[in-house]
Amino acid sequence: MQLQDLGDTTVYAFENLSQFDHLVHFVSTRRGGISEGNFSALNIGFHVGDDNFRVLQNRRILADALGMDLLKCTFANQCHSANVAIVNDTGRGKGALEKDSSLANTDGMITNVKNICLGVQVADCVPILLYDPQQQVIASLHAGWKGTLRKIVPEAIAKMVQHYGCMAENIYAGLGPSNGPCCYEVGEDVFREANTALGSVKGIIKPAATEGKYMFDQWEANVRQLKDAGLREEHIELAGICSQCEHETFFSSRAQDGITGRFMAGIMLKKVRH
Ligand SMILES: [Zn+2]
Repeated sequence: MQLQDLGDTTVYAFENLSQFDHLVHFVSTRRGGISEGNFSALNIGFHVGDDNFRVLQNRRILADALGMDLLKCTFANQCHSANVAIVNDTGRGKGALEKDSSLANTDGMITNVKNICLGVQVADCVPILLYDPQQQVIASLHAGWKGTLRKIVPEAIAKMVQHYGCMAENIYAGLGPSNGPCCYEVGEDVFREANTALGSVKGIIKPAATEGKYMFDQWEANVRQLKDAGLREEHIELAGICSQCEHETFFSSRAQDGITGRFMAGIMLKKVRH
């Protein structure tokens, strides 16, 4: 990913997605907002116990810095599912100004409608952005360990293929900052669930230094699902930034004992004048 200084704040962009003129995308950071304490500073999550007014202001600061209308952003009421919604014109702006209107029971969104920014909010879970430049289709996914084991990636790719006629080999993917294999310790329960869900956890889960604990590589698990779904390796960009290690730049739930803000990854097709 590349750092972009936008004055009031800083965002990151994937190198593989930056080559496309028809696309706007970004990963936000903690910099430039007005929230305080564990939510400092650019918390964009309404659902984490922060002051709603401050969250709304933060979202406006981010949208302004990006030159984007906040009302073009659509958010989901993420619940660690593999539910992927098709977003059309009527979904534009849902969840942008308050939590209640966000798409219920949804962790992934797909659209081919221009000027809808699909947003995903994370603090350790993996934000994944997808783009098919042939069919002009985008997607945003929230893939924590539960979403990963429930296989939100293959679910989203299958929907892009079935609903929009995408070919998996044309799709590009960016996996943003999230809890990395250096820090993501899980217990016996996750290890057992992963074995059942994934079949093989070789290269994905290793024993940790602490007995009865394991290190879960949620990056590798999702990259593998993208490849298995038919994406080309060279179309997949892994940020490789651990949110827990880099918790001063990105919100990390684990680094702050569960009380923290959310950063956002967003993707939007823009209208280009001919
Ligand atoms: Zn780490």
